[in-house]
Amino acid sequence: MFADGEHGENFAEVEINKKHFKTFKIGKAFLDYDQLLILSHFKGHDIAGFGGAIKQLSMGHAAKGGKLAMHMGEKPRIISRKCRQCNLCKSRCNVDALNIGKKSYIDKDKCIGCGACMAICPYKAITIMSIRNIAKFIGIGHPFIEKVVEGAFAAQLNKHNIYMNFAMNITSGCDCIGKKMTPIMEDFGIFISSDPVAIDKACYDMAKEKGKKFKGYKTFAYAESIGLGSAEYTLHELK
Ligand code: SF4
Ligand code: SF4
Repeated sequence: MFADGEHGENFAEVEINKKHFKTFKIGKAFLDYDQLLILSHFKGHDIAGFGGAIKQLSMGHAAKGGKLAMHMGEKPRIISRKCRQCNLCKSRCNVDALNIGKKSYIDKDKCIGCGACMAICPYKAITIMSIRNIAKFIGIGHPFIEKVVEGAFAAQLNKHNIYMNFAMNITSGCDCIGKKMTPIMEDFGIFISSDPVAIDKACYDMAKEKGKKFKGYKTFAYAESIGLGSAEYTLHELK
């Protein structure tokens, strides 16, 4: 069963009144529970910098409409020289935005930024990385990150969740890429907390301590500023 129905039609609009979203669409079935165990894989992410509990809350609870709302504005492009014209991506695009040929390209006016084509391309010919997006990573207030944080806020409203992050098989890209990836660092454990911000910050800090500085640091300040949780934590190690 899908919490938002077979095609995203079973959603609830949660009122949050934040900077990017006044309301946010989450799978309606999630409203039936006041506590969930949120299991997350800690790893890198092309746009958000890293993925952990916050991203899992956000993307994992968002109805299809919520996911699109978060991704809108971040549209991929085709690296034409890498495109082998297999047309696989076309079969995934609901808005017919892909033009495949000698010079393959995405019609930015039609594209809604869902990322489905990027996930399926076997030749890594579709990317979201661009000079503009890289500039956003180091700029102030990356909108995608803020949207993810707001989605997470909507998902945990009135709940008493428990979060578990698995810092294992840590890859530079997100699991949603749908391809085998080689871990970029050693495993460093399983974390548990009742605060989605604290648990992600603990993983982020430990990765940094072990030599991998992920992007997406601004997530924590924004998450704290809208009341999602606290980036302060104390580690209690169990052996
Ligand atoms: S899936 Fe990749 S290689 Fe195939 S047509 Fe689309 S962009 Fe080109
Ligand atoms: S991101 Fe989604 S909407 Fe845009 S071209 Fe790819 S599949 Fe189509």
